[in-house]
Amino acid sequence: MIIGSGPAGYTASIYTTRAGIKSILIEGLQPGGQLTTTTTIENFPGFPDGIDGFQLMDNMRAQAVNVGADVRSGLVTAIDLSQRPFIATLDGGAQIAADTVIVATGASAKYLGLDDEKKYAGQGVSACATCDGFFYRRKVVAVVGGGDTACEEAHYLSNLCSKVYMIVRKNYLRASAAMQKRVMEKDNIEILFETNTVGLFGDNGVEGAHLVRGRGTDHEETLDIAIDGFFLAIGHQPNTAFLGGQLDLDEQGYIVTQAPGTATSVEGVFAAGDVADPHYRQAIAAAGTGCRAAIDAEHYLNRQ
Ligand code: NDP
Repeated sequence: MIIGSGPAGYTASIYTTRAGIKSILIEGLQPGGQLTTTTTIENFPGFPDGIDGFQLMDNMRAQAVNVGADVRSGLVTAIDLSQRPFIATLDGGAQIAADTVIVATGASAKYLGLDDEKKYAGQGVSACATCDGFFYRRKVVAVVGGGDTACEEAHYLSNLCSKVYMIVRKNYLRASAAMQKRVMEKDNIEILFETNTVGLFGDNGVEGAHLVRGRGTDHEETLDIAIDGFFLAIGHQPNTAFLGGQLDLDEQGYIVTQAPGTATSVEGVFAAGDVADPHYRQAIAAAGTGCRAAIDAEHYLNRQ
């Protein structure tokens, strides 16, 4: 059983199916995973002009299905790794028994942890510019974060919105030089460095954000900005809750694998993609570990 339908899951599915293993892939809440909410992907080899993220994942799914993979919708809510075969429970109650499991559940967007993020959820707070940006055409928005995701989202929004603030807690961007350049070249993106968000306000959805600049320094100041949308782009949290603590995780919550292989702390369970990757977190890296997990699972089954 392969749990998850990002590049890692589909690649594992293609490899296991072609190896003659009966494998079932459970797609999860967001079929296709994180790439379905991004725009053009220019760094996945094989597409000289780039490829739309949704299209890339649709292609991977089609390729898996074409080689005979059993791709099923559903969400694995719990799994019992203490017995063989392993037993997974899906939403709706169905159970699936599997001799080996590949966990490829990826990661989900992080939030700052402000009460106001919950208060305004769906009313101006979003963690996906490509999903929700359309609602903010010709409006003013803020993107929190200074990494590649934040730059990509700010750039995307700058083509729709009248103005985009980037709220960056350090005095520099962590993003790659190429992404930084893209952002710097846009007249309607304003970067607020050394700035943290402490709250949101508005009677009718988000109307603004309370910010603190230079927190803890002698030039600390508070300021409010008027915005219609507040986008989080501060990284991701690996999706491991359904495992119920049965696999060893690192201090950030990523599944620990026995590199260079994909074996986890439970024999017969392998992990691939972002759920086990605190370092690279790239689509091509996820696809690569999906391939490795499939080969590791195949060898494991052969040994049994
Ligand atoms: P990153 O971890 O790279 O960046 C997160 C950003 O959010 C940092 O600027 C960080 O600040 C900030 N941040 C984190 N927590 C908080 C907080 N509580 N309050 C305020 N700011 C916060 O995550 P990304 O999602 O941007 O990228 C993940 C990986 O995916 C990276 O390896 C990236 O290169 C890759 N990626 C590549 C793309 C591409 O190649 N086109 C596109 C998107 C992602 P600080 O710097 O202070 O820690």
